[in-house]
Amino acid sequence: MAISLIYGPTGSGKTKRLVKAYILAGRYNLKTIIIKPNVLYEEYDPYRIQYDGITIKENLFVLGIDKIPLDEKYSFVLVEDVHLFSIPEVHIVLENFFPISNNITFYGLLKDFANREFETTAYLLKNSKNLLDNVEELKTKCTVCGKHVARNTQRLINKVPAPITTPQIFLNKFVEHYPTCDKCYVGPDKLVEEVNV
Ligand SMILES: [Zn+2]
Repeated sequence: MAISLIYGPTGSGKTKRLVKAYILAGRYNLKTIIIKPNVLYEEYDPYRIQYDGITIKENLFVLGIDKIPLDEKYSFVLVEDVHLFSIPEVHIVLENFFPISNNITFYGLLKDFANREFETTAYLLKNSKNLLDNVEELKTKCTVCGKHVARNTQRLINKVPAPITTPQIFLNKFVEHYPTCDKCYVGPDKLVEEVNV
């Protein structure tokens, strides 16, 4: 039994890790459920996770905590985008699955495009001694310079760094997110400074 948090910026490999867990569970025929937040966006198919030619079956997904079939047992409980769940929702997952699961893994972002922490991920990290067995921060290289470690998620809208006024969660065809290092990251605060100069 292990409860884990895997976090890192956009593009750091969280989906890759989730797909790996899914493949592992499939290899040993372990029953798996993937819990996703119940948010719907334009051009975003919530029942689809694809990585490296592997597509996860639609029937493994549930959208939203209220949709979890609580009478079933799962060996692998994978919670994607934990930053979009509330803290009570995380506790519902833990309380319901802890006794009957081998593996509960939360995947998510710690910080948004403006480097503000997401409350739920920050809460899990802060209480990791009580709530979690494993915590792993995924790192990747900066998309811009290709040299430094990326800890930031850069947001562009129509190829321009996004202002602070855009919503924390924002996905459509004009919006891009990619990992950047501290040097290459252009956050909303830097935008304001540039305007003032
Ligand atoms: Zn860089």
